[in-house]
Amino acid sequence: NAKQTGDEYLFFCKEMDNKVKKHNLLVEQLTQAVKNNDIEVYFQPIIDIENNTVAKFESLVRWNNQGQWVSPAEFIPLAEESRVIIPLGELVLLKTCQQIKALEAQGYENFVFNVNRSLFEFTEFNPERNAWLETIKSQGVKPSQISFELTESVLAPENTNHLDVLTQLKQAGCLISLDDFGTGYSSLSYLRRFPVDVLKLDKSFIDEVHVDLGDEALVKSIIQMSRVLGIKVVAEGVEEREQLAVLTEAGCDYIQGYYFSKPLPANDVVPFLTQFSRE
Ligand code: C2E
Ligand code: CA
Ligand code: CA
Ligand code: CA
Repeated sequence: NAKQTGDEYLFFCKEMDNKVKKHNLLVEQLTQAVKNNDIEVYFQPIIDIENNTVAKFESLVRWNNQGQWVSPAEFIPLAEESRVIIPLGELVLLKTCQQIKALEAQGYENFVFNVNRSLFEFTEFNPERNAWLETIKSQGVKPSQISFELTESVLAPENTNHLDVLTQLKQAGCLISLDDFGTGYSSLSYLRRFPVDVLKLDKSFIDEVHVDLGDEALVKSIIQMSRVLGIKVVAEGVEEREQLAVLTEAGCDYIQGYYFSKPLPANDVVPFLTQFSRE
């Protein structure tokens, strides 16, 4: 049945070929979208538990490709491999600054906006001309209103130059948040490598925190440790009232998740704030 194997092989090649074509087309479309400013940013509220107010927002990129929303989980990796992540990240920061100014004009001041940065954006960073700080300053935004979210990989020991970039940002007044905390490897030792301001507890720790005593204990000890180190804690992916109760009891500082709000398009932010302060 050599013939059959041959057919299967041909079929396989065709499948691969289609995948490669689809992949290349997506990269092409994404590149165009970024060039044409055809990327949106949504803003997810982050609540300060202690006084029940909106303290921050996370900026999350959104791409509608010819009528179809593509998940960031799908296109961020494409953006990284094609280097489009650099202009994409700039655009997200610019749109974030514009949102800050728009809110300010309506009397809403002093929110912190969290902007995601992937490892690749640090690898390619030109510290001679800190483009991120330039954008922030040119838009008239206070650096202390921007928190850069990075993952543990950025702090890996081989990346000493990343520490220089982080130091620059921090000296300018920006905040640094460690995203997806607990999903990497050497979390604890990395905390000693750079003084991060905020730790974001990954959703996987939160999912069962109200039903699993082990998870509850883990979350509590991370919060206690952070307090000793002077680091604030955000719980990600909070969906249930019971999770909120456990996290409040554990002394968690901030809550982010569908329980309070999904990521909002720019125009829905003020209505949300108005409604939230009335509740
Ligand atoms: P992330 O940084 O961990 O962002 C949190 C993700 O969890 C977001 O997904 C958010 O919509 C989602 N989420 C928030 N609360 C809940 C909840 O209560 N339940 C559930 N099930 N999900 C919740 P999103 O927007 O699809 O983004 C996925 C990932 O894409 C982000 O994960 C981040 O790694 C990346 N990403 C998004 N925007 C950017 C960006 O501008 N730049 C970079 N480099 N990466 C980005
Ligand atoms: Ca994030
Ligand atoms: Ca996260
Ligand atoms: Ca995540």
